[in-house]
Amino acid sequence: MSGEPFLSVGDLYAGYGGSRVLHGIGLEVRRGEVCAILGPNGAGKTTLLRALCGMVRVRGDIRLDGTEITGRAPESVARMGVAHVPEGRGTFTALTVEENLRVGAYTQHDRTRVAADLARVFDFFPVLREKLRDPAGGLSGGQQQMLAIGRALMLRPRLLLLDEPSLGLSPLVTQELFQIVRTINAEEHTTVMVVEQNAHLALEVAHHAHVIETGRIVLSGSAEVIRADEQVARSYLGYR
Ligand code: ATP
Repeated sequence: MSGEPFLSVGDLYAGYGGSRVLHGIGLEVRRGEVCAILGPNGAGKTTLLRALCGMVRVRGDIRLDGTEITGRAPESVARMGVAHVPEGRGTFTALTVEENLRVGAYTQHDRTRVAADLARVFDFFPVLREKLRDPAGGLSGGQQQMLAIGRALMLRPRLLLLDEPSLGLSPLVTQELFQIVRTINAEEHTTVMVVEQNAHLALEVAHHAHVIETGRIVLSGSAEVIRADEQVARSYLGYR
């Protein structure tokens, strides 16, 4: 893991229409690490991910591997290797599992490479191979989340943005999913930023974490430091 930040965000402002949600966010993520974003509902966590992948208007400075990507369109950011798995998954329910995965490979025209990438996704998520011809809408919540992550992997992302992957899933399925995220990070060296309500789990997988409240970072540090913080323990980990 190099000391240079892979993702660097400086003085980032973003919002919707006239309402500003992010107020000068600054953070760095090192190459190959898992970074967790914690914070209460409405703090701006989703907006931060949207800002990083070009889905909302921003002011500030976003750099990926040294290249400024601030204000680029989502497709351009995706071509730079940033894959976004939105809250609610965003799978195409009427399309089959295979069709969904192929949509994820839209930037790739080399059929051999697409076949290899599909095989890789099935290594991570064997259940998707079993359900290849099934409509995505018929999958369980956990399988749909796997499909959404699998689709993102088809892009061979350098940065994977996961928004609330545990939403609506049972604790067991959530554990399994986070274990796979850990494996993807370890085996593919994919840098991951994960927004997660389940702070316990996020801090188990993450190397570093940032806590956002009302659009500002109020605490940053290693997962150990964040876990040991009394305020975090009280607000997000359920300790007294
Ligand atoms: P949650 O955990 O509830 O998803 P969050 O930390 O991800 O919260 P955001 O979804 O980024 O927070 O929302 C931050 C603020 O922006 C909230 O006040 C929300 O109402 C507002 N907001 C989010 N999406 C939009 C939108 N499309 N248009 C206008 N306001 C929005």
